[in-house]
Amino acid sequence: MKLVFLGPPGAGKGTQAAVVSKEYRIPHLSTGDMLRSEVAAGSQLGASIADDMQSGKLIADETISSVVAHRIALPDAAAGFLLDGYPRTVRQADFLESLLGSVKLDLVIELVVDPTILIERIQRRAAMTLAGGGAARADDNIDSLRKRLSIYQTETAPLTEYYQRKGQLFRLNGDAPLEFVSRGIVGRLAHLRGQ
Ligand code: ADP
Repeated sequence: MKLVFLGPPGAGKGTQAAVVSKEYRIPHLSTGDMLRSEVAAGSQLGASIADDMQSGKLIADETISSVVAHRIALPDAAAGFLLDGYPRTVRQADFLESLLGSVKLDLVIELVVDPTILIERIQRRAAMTLAGGGAARADDNIDSLRKRLSIYQTETAPLTEYYQRKGQLFRLNGDAPLEFVSRGIVGRLAHLRGQ
């Protein structure tokens, strides 16, 4: 099964993606996580993207698309994968389509959440991480967050229509309790597989 999760920062993509990845035994490919490990490892790629990531900007389409192309070519993704954080622009979506060739995405799952709730959620997440002794994400501050939300509106939101036109979109309300959202997604996937 080949899936894409769409949704603004704080919508709960990571949480829901983890549930689906476990249920269907497909790798959860989070581009944000991949890029954060490059930054943490101090690789050449990491050094070149650290500033943009911290300020909440997108990194170049070509750069992220090449990272994704390499990752989905690995054997564990042959039977399926779940992309979280990619595509984020129409150019990335076109690239993904050309990469997959005749294979189609099974479903694009979009979590829809009110922006005021998103800001609260992310600030709470950062505060809880700090309280637990962890380090908050470098980009979980209010300026970067506002930037990420506004970039989402201009660059990523057009993908709703893009995938709607292809008949691949499943939108659901991400404000609902976690288990409720998970049930909605798993139910739709089971239906898709004729279970
Ligand atoms: P968010 O919480 O904003 O959904 P992610 O963890 O998915 O964050 O991504 C964090 C950052 O990594 C983004 O703000 C961006 O700088 C970079 N990034 C991740 N995926 C992409 C992508 N598909 N295109 C461009 N930049 C990306």
